[in-house]
Amino acid sequence: MTYGNLIAGQWVNSERFTINRNPSDISDVIGEYAQADLYQLESAIAAARSAFPAWSTGGVQARSDALDRIGNEILARKEELGELLAREEGKTLPEAIGEVTRAGYIFKFFAGECVRLSGELLPSVRPGVGIEITREPIGVVSLITPWNFPIAIPAWKIAPALAFGNCVVFKPADLVPGCAWALAEIIHRSGIPHGVFNLVMGRGSVIGDALVTHPDIAAVSFTGSVEIGRRIASQCAEHGKKVQLEMGGKNPQIVLDDADLQQAVELCAQSSFFSTGQRCTASSRLIVTQSIHDRFIEALKARMASLKVGNALATGTDIGPASSDAQLAQDLRYIDIAKSEGARLVAGGERVQCHTGSGKEGYFVAPTLFLDTSPAMQINREEVFGPVASVIRVRDYDEALAVANNTEFGLAAGIATTSLKYATHFKRHSQSGMVMVNLPTAGVDYHVPFGGRKASSYGPREQGRYAQEFFTTVKTAYSLA
Ligand code: NAP
Repeated sequence: MTYGNLIAGQWVNSERFTINRNPSDISDVIGEYAQADLYQLESAIAAARSAFPAWSTGGVQARSDALDRIGNEILARKEELGELLAREEGKTLPEAIGEVTRAGYIFKFFAGECVRLSGELLPSVRPGVGIEITREPIGVVSLITPWNFPIAIPAWKIAPALAFGNCVVFKPADLVPGCAWALAEIIHRSGIPHGVFNLVMGRGSVIGDALVTHPDIAAVSFTGSVEIGRRIASQCAEHGKKVQLEMGGKNPQIVLDDADLQQAVELCAQSSFFSTGQRCTASSRLIVTQSIHDRFIEALKARMASLKVGNALATGTDIGPASSDAQLAQDLRYIDIAKSEGARLVAGGERVQCHTGSGKEGYFVAPTLFLDTSPAMQINREEVFGPVASVIRVRDYDEALAVANNTEFGLAAGIATTSLKYATHFKRHSQSGMVMVNLPTAGVDYHVPFGGRKASSYGPREQGRYAQEFFTTVKTAYSLA
């Protein structure tokens, strides 16, 4: 079956299509999805520009009702959409249903935010003058998303963009058009006017530059790699556009001597290996103090041995496939690099053959653990984005904190400890945007800010009420009383 782009409220086909394959079973084709060309992109931007005056000044109740309907439909169809997500991206079915549920609640949260946008009234320093500070929509926004959260990340960009009166041109990752199309179809039927929301599936290498630099685009919200993010940031600086970037991570997870051992093992297994390690908030550096080190490693290896790698849709699977052949190759390449750097492989480290039903192979890789690694090794400095963790043994909390912060990234960081003193100190001194105490680094709420520091993020935070910072612009109005 073929699926078109949504431009000015019409489904539009294309001459080129992406064949969307299931990474658990590459013989399973999910569908053929249109690839927009520059002409279609231009039409989508023009449609959004035409729709903007009415949408941005129309009543907030209509916006709120539409977002609520979208959220309700996503929640009502969470099993079906979760199955599509697991089939397309490779998360296990429970993880995928969880992501869809999150997307539904995000739309419902921003249905409420529509009617909560507030301003300020201040006296002027000049007698007889009043001041109003208000927030207004910014215009047409480009939303560019990665493949690893194919419905939640689109949701947390599209919902606030629409809630605050902007019009949208949405480009999902080429690898995962299925969830993007399903979400667009729900948005299309929600009652929002034609042109307010447009879907342009297609290659970033073909339409990316125009999506960012087009004169009618007011702002760009991007999630993806540091390389593409930095390119977009410099284009936005050159063209004077507002920009928001969420990028990679190399998140540390500290385990102190006083940690609850089983709790520490479980949260490390969760955030290093679940979702196949393909989460920007995954913890890939396990920083372990010396007295608990050996006990922790033995318990973690036992937990890893219990993890079942397999078809994302099969009951009982803990770890699904890498999402693509390119991601599988990257995982295996970093495993080779770690070995060549002298890291000691104690679990996994290889491609796994799984029977997926049809007999065709998927992109499976065993959860992998390296010991005896040092902070300077490439495996501890660069994002692998697979189920690969490396352990750095340290003397004490002070060294653990220094190692945790010794990275160009700063997205999420975790500590496992029963010490209030160290937990409190870490919350204050971790150089990351999100800190977890006795919780996995991956796993966050939808109603609070999300984002990092250093090379992980750039610009205002996403999600929660902080999302209005990016998706609105501030006006200060003076009037003579
Ligand atoms: P990516 O290669 O940077 O792609 C991200 C998006 O940018 C895709 O839609 C891609 O389109 C598009 N793109 C490619 N070239 C472009 C260009 N020249 N101009 C404009 N857009 C362009 O990243 P990815 O491999 O999909 O995702 C993995 C990365 O995302 C990891 O580094 C991960 O850490 C990061 N991530 C960060 C967060 C966070 O919140 N911090 C969350 C999730 C993921 P195509 O698909 O067509 O190439």
